[in-house]
Amino acid sequence: MNSFSRVQDQDGVIEEQVRTDRLHQLFRQSFSAVFGSYLGAAMLCWLCWDRFDHRVMLVWLVLLAGTSLLRLKMFADWFRCPYSERTPARWERRYWVTLMLSAGVWGAGALAVMPTDDRVSQVLVMLFTVGMSVSAVSCYSAYRYMTLSSMAMVLLPCTLWLLFQPSSMQVGVAIAVLVFSTFVVSATRKLSDALEKAFRLTRQMERANTISTHAAQTDELTGLMNRRAFFEHAQLLYAQCRQNQQPLCALMLDMDHFKRINDTYGHQAGDQVLRQIGGVISASFRQADVSGRLGGEEFAVLLPNTSLETARDIAQQLIESIAGLSAEPVQGLTASLGVASTQGHEHDLHGLMNNADKALYRAKFLGRNQVVVAQ
Ligand code: GH3
Ligand code: MG
Ligand code: MG
Repeated sequence: MNSFSRVQDQDGVIEEQVRTDRLHQLFRQSFSAVFGSYLGAAMLCWLCWDRFDHRVMLVWLVLLAGTSLLRLKMFADWFRCPYSERTPARWERRYWVTLMLSAGVWGAGALAVMPTDDRVSQVLVMLFTVGMSVSAVSCYSAYRYMTLSSMAMVLLPCTLWLLFQPSSMQVGVAIAVLVFSTFVVSATRKLSDALEKAFRLTRQMERANTISTHAAQTDELTGLMNRRAFFEHAQLLYAQCRQNQQPLCALMLDMDHFKRINDTYGHQAGDQVLRQIGGVISASFRQADVSGRLGGEEFAVLLPNTSLETARDIAQQLIESIAGLSAEPVQGLTASLGVASTQGHEHDLHGLMNNADKALYRAKFLGRNQVVVAQ
C-alpha cells in the first residue's frame, strides 16, 4: 500500500470514529426526550381537558405510549449491547425509524386534538409544539437531519393547518412560528458542525499521540524497541519477576565483525542485515519477553520466568537462525551472545545486564560465534 492510500485509509478510520462518537452522543443526550415528549402531551391534555375531544385525546396518548415504549426498548437494547456493537451501521436506522414514528404521532396527534373553533386551545397547542421542537435541538443535535426532521414532524401539521385558516390571527401565529423556526434551523447547523469538529479534533489528536508515542519508543531501522523503551519495559519486567519470585534471564547479542560487513558491502547492506536481525528477534520470542536494539549492532532480550538452561538453548537457536539468514551479498553472518540470570543472585537490573555484557565479551574473547553463560 502506498503512503497516499494509507493516509486515505486512516482518514476513513477517523471519519468512522467520528460517526460512532456522534451516535454515542445522540444516545447519551436523548434518553430523557422519551419521557419528556410523553409528559408534554399528557400536560397539554390536562390543561385542555375541557376543550379537547376525550376520545381523540385517549387514542393520541395510547399511540404515544406505544411509540415511547418502542423507544424505551431501543434504549434498553443499546445499554445491554456490548460496546463494540454500538456502531452506526447497527443503530442509526433503528434510531431514525423510532424517532420518526414518535415525532409523527406527536405532530399528527396535536393536529387531531386541536379544536377547529377554539383559539385559546390552538395557541396552547402551538405553544407545546414549538416547545417540543426546540427541545429537539438539545436532544438530537449530534445528528442534524434527526433534529430537523423531528422538528418538522411535530411542528408542521398544526402550523400548516393554521396557515390556511381564514383568520389573520391564525395565519399570523403560523407565520411567526415558521420565522422563529428558521433561526432554530440555522442554529442546528452551527451546533452540529461544532460538535463534529470537536469529535474529529479529539480523534486526530489521539492518533497523533499514538503515532508519536510509538515513534519515540521504536527503533526505526529494526522496528524493535529502542534503548530507552527497552530499559523502561525492562524495569517493569524486573520488578514484576521479583514480586512473583520468578527468575529473569538476560541475553545480550552483538554481531561479529560488523565493521567488516560495512567496509566490504557498504553501509546500506549493513543496514539490511540489521533489519533482518530485527525480524529474527521479533519472530523468536514470546509476547511476555522484552527485546530491543540497544545501539549499533547490539541487541538485548529479557526472558521472564525462564531457567538459565532454557535461556542458553534459546540463545543457541538464535545463533543458528542468524547463521541461516540469507542476506545477499553478505555471507556467513555470525553473532556472539552473553546470557545471565537473576537466579541465585542478589543484583538489580543493572547488575543483571552487566553480567550478560561480561559474558558477551567473553564470547568475543573465546573466538566469537558462540554463547557464553555468566558464572
Ligand atoms: P566485534 O566482532 O568485535 O563486535 O566486531 P565489530 O566490527 O562488530 O565491532 P563493534 O561491535 O565494536 O562495531 C560495530 C560496528 O557496527 C560499528 C559500526 O560501523 C557498525 N554500525 C553501528 N550501527 C550501525 C548501523 O545502524 N548501520 C550499519 N550499517 N552499521 C552500523
Ligand atoms: Mg560487533
Ligand atoms: Mg558492537
